[in-house]
Parts: sequence; structure tokens; C-alpha cells
Amino acid sequence: MRCPVCDSRNTRVLDSRESKDAGIRRRRSCSECGHRFSTKERIEETLPSVMKRDGSRQSFDRKKLSRGIQLACRKRPVSDEEIEHVVQAIERWAGTRGDRDVPADHVGERVMHHLHELDPVAYVRFVSVYQSFESVEEFEALLREMEKAERVNVEGQRTLFDSTPGKSGEKKAPPSTKAKTYEVK
Ligand SMILES: [Zn+2]
Repeated sequence: MRCPVCDSRNTRVLDSRESKDAGIRRRRSCSECGHRFSTKERIEETLPSVMKRDGSRQSFDRKKLSRGIQLACRKRPVSDEEIEHVVQAIERWAGTRGDRDVPADHVGERVMHHLHELDPVAYVRFVSVYQSFESVEEFEALLREMEKAERVNVEGQRTLFDSTPGKSGEKKAPPSTKAKTYEVK
């Protein structure tokens, strides 16, 4: 940090404290001219564009993100508040990276990370469909199929929804064909 008076680089920090608006305020002193000044450091937040696999970009869509998570959590013991919390966390994660765009896959991975902590079923649902999660409508249609399959399976033989997903390795292995996965035998 250069001194604003003599332009010297030789300055030192006298003290640092958090300021009200989530920034950090530093009191500095110039070792050359003795000038005292303060600086404020704050986290930059600008939402990036989301880049799809085909290279096209869309603006970061909070509603779409929220809807996708809501769908994954449908009929699960996850409160609206918890969902909102995840949306906020992902928004903050995306907004503070300092990048102009973020791959859609990385957003998907963040969702997976949060759902994994929140609810195993929501997590599995999301992992199963997120690779084709190009539109919320598509996601919704797939989930409807899954629910249908769950209803038909009265004997609870569908282990997919009973097992807690593994911590490593399995996380990113989606079913080879999503349609087959939810087929009712
Ligand atoms: Zn100075």
C-alpha cells in the first residue's frame, strides 16, 4: 500500500478492525513522511454468468437455482429456510470468485455439496439428474418419473433411495442412462 502523500511503499499497519459493512478497516502509517491514513478492504461481489457445456452463457439465475433445489427437496424434511440458506451460500460463492463466468457444472457441484449435508435423498435426486439439468422443466419431468417409480415400489426394493451416498468416488458417477435408472421393474 503506497502512502497517498509521498507515494512511498514503506507503510505499516497500525491496527485492523472489522467495519460495519463487512469490510476491514486498517489504520496505516507512512514510515517516510509520517502521514497516517486508513484503508478499507472489502470483499468484491459481482454475480458471474453461468457457462453451459455448449459454451453459451446465461446470467446467474437465483430463481432457477432455488427452484432446482426445491425440486430436489420436494416432500423431504428440508425447510424453505434451509433451501434459502443454500441459495444464499451458492450466490455468495459465485459472486465473490471474481470471475466473469462460472461453469454450470461447478454450480451443480456446489449444489451437490450442500444437498449432501442437508438430505441424502435430495442429494441422490440431484446427482442423478444434474448432468442433464439444462432446464428446470426437464428436471421437474425427471423427478415426476422418479416419484412415480417410488409410488409403484411398495415393497421398498428400490435401494437407490434408501442408501446414503458414499463420500468419495461415487459422488460424481451418474447413472449411464437416466431413463433406465428410474424404470419400474
Ligand atoms: Zn508518506
